[in-house]
Amino acid sequence: MRLVLLGPPGAGKGTQAALLSDTLKIPHISTGDLFRANISKGTDLGKQAQEYIDAGKLVPTEVTANMVQDRLEQDDAADGFLLDGFPRTIEQAELLEKMLAEKGLHLDHVINYVVSEDVVVERMLARGRGDDNEDTIRTRLEVYRTETAPLIEHYQDILLNIDAEGNVEDITATTLDALDK
Ligand code: AMP
Repeated sequence: MRLVLLGPPGAGKGTQAALLSDTLKIPHISTGDLFRANISKGTDLGKQAQEYIDAGKLVPTEVTANMVQDRLEQDDAADGFLLDGFPRTIEQAELLEKMLAEKGLHLDHVINYVVSEDVVVERMLARGRGDDNEDTIRTRLEVYRTETAPLIEHYQDILLNIDAEGNVEDITATTLDALDK
């Protein structure tokens, strides 16, 4: 199964992706995690991404899409994957469609985690990641609203809306249920 997780920053995509990845036996591919791993290893890619991440802005699409393409070409992603944090713009969605179409593939579903802004701010402040201070959170929510939210419409035909304000186990169960139908 080839899946994309959508939702504002702080919606719990990473937590759900890890749990879904175990159950569905497909790799969890998080662009944020890939960037953070590159930053801690001090790679060129990490250096290119750092200033954008620290400011809560999007890393340029070319850099991000190349990283995703490399990751999707690894063996463990041949039969499916769960993308978390990519695509984040219509342009990235179109690039992903192209990458998949070149192999005769397509996305099966896009899971949209629906959660209010109050709840995501609370969750981000509780998580305390380096880029989770109030200014950066405000920028990331603005980027989400203007750049990423239009993907909900873009993916209308394969979208599954999931209420993401409950507890972790219930949200996973609801997601698995929705994928089964
Ligand atoms: P995340 O862990 O998904 O919240 O991502 C953390 C940060 O990594 C974001 O605020 C962006 O700076 C960067 N990032 C992650 N995914 C993307 C993407 N698809 N396009 C551009 N930047 C991204």
